Amino acid sequence: MTLGSDVSGMTTTAASAAAKGLSIVVPVYNEAAGLASLHQRICDLARTLRQRYRLSCEVVYVDDGSADATLSIARGLPADAIDVQVVSLSRNFGKEAALMAGLDHARLGAVMFMDGDGQHPPALVEQLVRHWIDDGYDVVYTAKAHRDNETFLRRLAVHGFYALINWGARQKIPEDAGDFRLLSPRAVAALRQLPERNRFFKGLASWIGFRQIRVDYEPAPRSHGVTTFNAARLLGLSIEGLTSFSVAPLRFASLLGVVLAGGAFLFGLSILWEVWTTGKQVPGYPSLVVGLMTIGGVQLIMIGIVGEYIGKILSELKARPIYFVAEHSEKHFETDKADD
Ligand code: UDP
Ligand code: MG
Repeated sequence: MTLGSDVSGMTTTAASAAAKGLSIVVPVYNEAAGLASLHQRICDLARTLRQRYRLSCEVVYVDDGSADATLSIARGLPADAIDVQVVSLSRNFGKEAALMAGLDHARLGAVMFMDGDGQHPPALVEQLVRHWIDDGYDVVYTAKAHRDNETFLRRLAVHGFYALINWGARQKIPEDAGDFRLLSPRAVAALRQLPERNRFFKGLASWIGFRQIRVDYEPAPRSHGVTTFNAARLLGLSIEGLTSFSVAPLRFASLLGVVLAGGAFLFGLSILWEVWTTGKQVPGYPSLVVGLMTIGGVQLIMIGIVGEYIGKILSELKARPIYFVAEHSEKHFETDKADD
């Protein structure tokens, strides 16, 4: 096993990066209603990128086991100014797995992740590409400019989550960063080398390092339908992110243990002191019950936390594939037909 990995042999200069190209990975799950118009916008974008940066583009639609007509619509999309790959997974594996499938199928060096619901404006992509080609950044990530339209409770939860996951971490995961991001060829190569099954892309993309830059943007409203990420799913993703990214919960458990034990010790001392000075028996039943319940509750929570990590170890150990591809189709854009 190697201890480190050298991906620096990949493209480093902006000029040769541009000679390669950009794969746009779009996970789609029940996005039939807006797919055609999104594709239209992506084609326009590809045209612009080719003219201004001589960048060739492909788009990889990963159908994550949609129940509607997404797959047939995706297959019918024209290779107009852009190569089109359609990868259809054997069932719904979740967005992180769909992103992974897209990353595995991307062929053109740099990779851009973009949602299939129109929330990530293709118009912004040019700006991200400029940071990569002109300024030489490897990871160009986007973050919500503000969270004014979210409830206080949700903002608090998000803040708490990032505080915990970044606690003591050397490479912090930027708060509010989304999956809408561009990765240079060497960043893609690095991401592809990570062996874990439990993927939390926001975290991994930050963890690999290289030159990273943040771009603030205002997410557009969904072009149709509703989000699939409800509170329960977000909680799941948060636990996933936390346990695959940091041992902060375990540290927190140890710390809480120390604090509780310290408190109990002081309480014991104070009882001794009281008996000593007043000579009276200290009435103890309620404090005994409270103490027992506290210890019992805290222990159960801690066992749960440890259990999450053991579950993670189990799923890494089983080493199952992250997704299965049911069908794969592609269309090529012919360059000689290109441009006027
Ligand atoms: N998505 C997916 N698999 C899923 C759920 C979502 O591929 O199981 C895709 C979805 O089609 C969309 C993106 O992930 O392109 C983001 O999903 P959504 O808009 O529901 O989440 P939000 O924007 O609210 O985070
Ligand atoms: Mg969305």
